[in-house]
Amino acid sequence: MKSVAQALGRLAPEQLLAAQQQVLEQVARAAPLFETLTAISRYSEASIPTMMASILVFDEATQSLRKGGYGCLPATFAAAVDGMVPGPATGSCGTAAFRRERVISEDVRVDPLWGAFREFAASYGIQSAWSSPILGADGRLLGVFGMYYGDCRAPTTEDLSFVDHFVHLAAVAIERHRVDADRDHQFTHDSLTGLGNRRKLEREVARLAADPTTTPRCIAIVDLDHFKMHNENLGHRAADLLLQDVGARISEAAGLGDLPIRFGGDQFVLITPANNEAMHARFSRLITSFERPFIADGLPIRLSVSAGIVEWNPHATDFETALYQAEQACIAAKQRGRDRWVAFSAEDRQLADERRRVARVLADAITAHKVFTHVQPIIDLATGAPVGFEMLARLADTPSGVIMPSVFIPIAEESSLIDSLGMSVLRSTCQLLASSGSQLDGMTANVNVSLRQLMRDGFPKAAAAAAAEHGVAPSRLCLEITESQWLDSDGPARNALLELKEIGFRLALDDFGTGYASLRLLQSVPFDVVKIDRSFTQCLGDNGAGTALCEAALRMAAACGMRVTAEGVETQEQADLLRVMGCQQGQGYWWSRPLPSADAIKWIEQRQAQPAF
Ligand code: C2E
Ligand code: CA
Ligand code: CA
Repeated sequence: MKSVAQALGRLAPEQLLAAQQQVLEQVARAAPLFETLTAISRYSEASIPTMMASILVFDEATQSLRKGGYGCLPATFAAAVDGMVPGPATGSCGTAAFRRERVISEDVRVDPLWGAFREFAASYGIQSAWSSPILGADGRLLGVFGMYYGDCRAPTTEDLSFVDHFVHLAAVAIERHRVDADRDHQFTHDSLTGLGNRRKLEREVARLAADPTTTPRCIAIVDLDHFKMHNENLGHRAADLLLQDVGARISEAAGLGDLPIRFGGDQFVLITPANNEAMHARFSRLITSFERPFIADGLPIRLSVSAGIVEWNPHATDFETALYQAEQACIAAKQRGRDRWVAFSAEDRQLADERRRVARVLADAITAHKVFTHVQPIIDLATGAPVGFEMLARLADTPSGVIMPSVFIPIAEESSLIDSLGMSVLRSTCQLLASSGSQLDGMTANVNVSLRQLMRDGFPKAAAAAAAEHGVAPSRLCLEITESQWLDSDGPARNALLELKEIGFRLALDDFGTGYASLRLLQSVPFDVVKIDRSFTQCLGDNGAGTALCEAALRMAAACGMRVTAEGVETQEQADLLRVMGCQQGQGYWWSRPLPSADAIKWIEQRQAQPAF
């Protein structure tokens, strides 16, 4: 009987080296495992004529042997053994995997290990089989290397050392593949919830888009309701554990073929195979699955989610657009009361298109320094003289003339445009003050600052730099922060306000009465001015909420040493009432609408000369 060593001798040493090198190269460049294991099988077969090799890979999840690579064995053989579970008498490979040791069947026709598989082996003309377990460096089972012959034979010691060589190569290839697969898993999965992450999403989207057979999908954005609040109440650790449970519940609710992704903090994306009624029922189940309470810090807690869904045809629309539409639908779900899903509709589509158009107009206007402002005077109620003015941003638009802030500010707030918009208004305000000479002497210019802008690192310094650049004293600028945006726990915003105050800026609390600003906020941030929202001014004199709030605001402001400006004064009666109540300043159509800056300066000059109520 010819030994493996003798057979090896048949291949010229340089051919052997070349074959081995090819295998190592495949391992090194992380070629698909099947390719590498097939190359190893062929390499071993080329070395030993008449031998047929097969490599099976052990799958820990299913505890079974899966097709790895094979040389000249027919595909049907490989397919038949694929999925075999190792056992005490499961042919030479299954038994070797089971025992974690080499199994030599010199004659499969009589070997008891082959009992159930004898006929199967005979149908492929196999008479002897040598199988070696492939073990990792830590002793874990990685797979089995099987060598089959058409005659009965036993290995020599030398043969066995060559077999070890192939087994070792296969071990290196499988381990390398596992390390790569683990790394890839970490790269594409969220470490907290174990769900896919944005990279997984990108990869999957690219795969779907590239595959011409892909049918339309449904994309859902699933967003936890009020999670910010829970996060603050629970603390980050407990909130993270809660998010883990949320991730688990979302994947539980997801069906076969769905791809659940953790998209951001408390936002998830699901890609499902179709957008149909069955899928809609599934989303309803997802929403109701949140009725079961969660446990946080040992206590039950009720969470809910809102979802926006949209159909995505990878061959017709780009994914970004579909995702944006799903987001719009999710916003609609929140607006309609949360704890529900909403499908993106044609109407939503139009609104979303318009929002995107406005975002583009705004971005272009900011880049081209074309955001302009209207200026509205602020009046001293005791004298009737103007004491300052507020800068109100406007956006020129070709079809409709002017876009108002109620339209573009929320769009700017959704993106980082609010930062550049805010800085642009601040700069034009400084420019106006610097260029108006003595006309605006003693006037304070009020500029609106969004909470998001305020929370940006370095905002106070950037604002100080803008003022310095135009030689404007910060004390001539009053920064208005809207009360309704205020969150009680926003330490960074409070710190930014304190820093601005330290630099010398004045501060105003805008839209007072519409938000949740507590007395504590008024006490802990030295606002100079409180601005009563126009909804209260406008019901002054009705003996209703308007009068009560104005009185309360005036009392509170007086206690904290702040002045009060009433906004939205539209009638003489409102102005008179406010003056009698002790309100110091007013702003509203009664005196002047917001005007282009040149007109406003003219108006202010005239009023300074002849104050009037
Ligand atoms: P706001 O800060 O409360 O500004 C006052 C708003 O009330 C202005 O609307 C003004 O035109 C309007 N107004 C003034 N007097 C009267 C009145 O007597 N009656 C009525 N009914 N309305 C009056 P506008 O200009 O449309 O601005 C809306 C909001 O947009 C502003 O409310 C402010 O929150 C925001 N905004 C405007 N410009 C900027 C900006 O540059 N940055 C930021 N972050 N927000 C801005
Ligand atoms: Ca304002
Ligand atoms: Ca206001």
